[in-house]
Amino acid sequence: MSISRSGIALLIPVLLFPTIPRQLWGQRVAASGDLAKVTRYELRVRINPAEEHLTASAQITLSNPNAEPQREIPFLLYRLLAVDAAQDEKGAALAFRQAVVSMSDEKNWQVNLVTLTLREPLPPGGTTRITLKYSGAIFGYREVMGYVLDHIGEDYTLLRPDALAYPMLAGPSSQSLFAAYDTLFTYELEITAPTSMIVACGGLPVEVSVGDGTETFRFASRVPTWRMDIAAAKFKVLKNDAGNLVVYALPEDEAGAGNLLKEMQRVTEFYTLRFGPSKRATAYTVIEIPEGSGSQASDFYILQDAGAFKDPKRTHELYHEIGHSWNMKAKPEVRRTRWFDEAFASYFEAIALREFAGQKAFDDRMARYRERFRSEARKNSRNATTPISEYGKEELGDNSYTKGAWSLYVLNQIVGDEGFNRIIQTSMAEFSERPAGFSDFQSVAESVSKRDLSRFFKEWIFGAESSDLLVGDASIQEIVERYREAAAKN
Ligand SMILES: [Zn+2]
Repeated sequence: MSISRSGIALLIPVLLFPTIPRQLWGQRVAASGDLAKVTRYELRVRINPAEEHLTASAQITLSNPNAEPQREIPFLLYRLLAVDAAQDEKGAALAFRQAVVSMSDEKNWQVNLVTLTLREPLPPGGTTRITLKYSGAIFGYREVMGYVLDHIGEDYTLLRPDALAYPMLAGPSSQSLFAAYDTLFTYELEITAPTSMIVACGGLPVEVSVGDGTETFRFASRVPTWRMDIAAAKFKVLKNDAGNLVVYALPEDEAGAGNLLKEMQRVTEFYTLRFGPSKRATAYTVIEIPEGSGSQASDFYILQDAGAFKDPKRTHELYHEIGHSWNMKAKPEVRRTRWFDEAFASYFEAIALREFAGQKAFDDRMARYRERFRSEARKNSRNATTPISEYGKEELGDNSYTKGAWSLYVLNQIVGDEGFNRIIQTSMAEFSERPAGFSDFQSVAESVSKRDLSRFFKEWIFGAESSDLLVGDASIQEIVERYREAAAKN
């Protein structure tokens, strides 16, 4: 099974857990390094839906974090997008070559490999800015990833990195491409579309200007981020009174969108009540995408499959995504455990369900996480024997959605709701600038709750004894009893 085949298999868990944001991540191997990195995009795109065509100009700021100078810079673009011109920061033409090639690990995955030659090698630590002008069409990547239906059309235009709609600095392998996703950048977008269409993006809307039969929508990144998503359609735009919660919906789903907006509002209020206001929770955007296009989330927005607009049973996905706004900052070396983001969002999702749908909805969700963990442990025992703190090194972060959520359930039961709320509140304040590691979080949890939580952390975070409890049939009360005594002894 090739690497990207397992990426396709990942879409199955995405259906079970449609809130997994970085669909392509599970298979990503450690960063391949040694390429330059993109630190900023200034992207202008003119979409011509009648002709299923776009023209674009990407001004890209590059930096070289490596020890070796870089002269040849590879970019990947969608197979039907071609570079027309390349320029350096002074506007002088740069040499480039391009060819449609197969990804080295998946021959059906064809990309336009553009290799740019800088005038001077970019020295270690150096920064430069280049511009790529490109144009062409996009007709999805169904041959490799069933959900990538991205296309330029009058009904719907969807441009995502999954379809390489903008240049990704990577070599032609999935490993290199996924490593590129690891780089954070800022952006400015300027998207021009016919006046009949509204352009949606998860970034901060800056302004809209009217042209001749067209409108140009400008957006900027809210925080350094890892992807840009652009959608254009005859959207209905719904906003709450404060204007910070926004839903872009297709006209036929306006009613469902009204409900989603209400859900966004009440779950934001609920988390604020429980955990205090979050500096990160200042805005949230939901953008409806055509059914089957794969829901995805990034900073402060979600591309939500049309199905979720019609099915109220999928509201919990939004609880999860908005829950991410109450995440603390994690140290780079522990991020890939996914515990500091996914365990919390998954557990918050469950407690929001209890608040709005009752205890049974909570119990069902937690039971589902547990069953999923059991099944992963059966498939591969490493899922059970690897401590949460080691998930990053072992690429087992998907367990943070399941066992990770349970670790917080147990912690919540040990310290009570009030204690748990204060732990979240304090760690968000403590780790909003300075990032947290597991021991940092343990210190906060212990000092806030005034309890000795060492046995809990030893068995749930730094060790794997907890897997036996979870795979076995111990009840939550039985599990918690084990730690309550130890915790109270202090
Ligand atoms: Zn998530």
